Amino acid sequence: MSSRLCLHTITTKPWPIETAIDAYAAAGIGGISVWRDALDGRSIPDTGRRIREAGLTIVSYVRGGFFAALEAEGRAAAIDENKRVIDEAAALGAPLVVLVCGAAVGQSLEESRRQIRAGIEAVLPHARERGVKLAIEPLHPMYADTRSAIVTLGQANGLVEAVADDHLGVAVDVYHVWWDPALAAEIARCGDRILAFHVCDWRSPTRDLLNDRGLMGEGCIPIRQIRRLVEKAGFAGFIEVEIFSTEYWAMDQHVFLDRIVDAYKHHV
Ligand code: ZN
Repeated sequence: MSSRLCLHTITTKPWPIETAIDAYAAAGIGGISVWRDALDGRSIPDTGRRIREAGLTIVSYVRGGFFAALEAEGRAAAIDENKRVIDEAAALGAPLVVLVCGAAVGQSLEESRRQIRAGIEAVLPHARERGVKLAIEPLHPMYADTRSAIVTLGQANGLVEAVADDHLGVAVDVYHVWWDPALAAEIARCGDRILAFHVCDWRSPTRDLLNDRGLMGEGCIPIRQIRRLVEKAGFAGFIEVEIFSTEYWAMDQHVFLDRIVDAYKHHV
C-alpha cells in the first residue's frame, strides 16, 4: 500500500538518519530521499548500505544547484560543489540529484538562467560518468530572488529540451507548480523526463514562506489531479513527501510519521 511512498529525510528533520531509516522501514515505506545534512559526520557508503539493508530504495539525493552568482569565482565554486554533490550521490547509491538552480540578487533572472544552463552543462559529463541523473526542480516564484530563477515547469522544460541530455530531467513538486495555468500542458510536455514527484500541501493562509508546508489534504493543492497528470505523462516512480514545517518538526516524529502515511493513503 505504501510501497511507492518515499520520505525526504528533512520531513522528519529531528531524527538522525539511522532512526529515520528504521522508522520508515517499519512503517512499510518504500523509499527515502536523503538530504545532504543528514549525512554529516557519517560514512556515505556505509549509510547507503544501511538503507538498502533495511529494504528501502534510495530515490534521490537533495540537493545540488545554486549555479547563479554575480562573480565568476562564485559560479566556478558552484560547479565544483555540484561535482562533489554528484560524487556523494554516487557513493550513497542515489540515482538522482535534485537541483535547486539558484538566483542572484543584483542581476536579471535572464542572466541567472543563462548561468544555470552553463552550470548544468558543465557538470553533466561528471554526472554521466558517475551514473547519476540531474533533475531541475522549478520553484514557486516567491523564491525567485535567491533560490531559483526557474519558476515554472515551462522554463524547466525549455532548459531540458535545449540541453538535450538523457541525464537531465525535471522534478515536479506540487508545492511549487500547482498554481500554474499551463501545468497540465507542461506536465504532458515533460513526458518521460519527469524524474521525481514531490508532494505536500499549501496551507491557506500560509504562515511562513519556507517552513509552513502542510500535510497532504490540509491545503488547497489538487494533489490527486496532479498525480494523475504526471502518471498520464508516463511517470511511475516514487511519490516523495517533502514537508518543511516548524510545527510538525516540534511534534513526536513517530506520531507525525503515522499521519503522513495516513495522509498519503487518503489524499494522494
Ligand atoms: Zn521538492
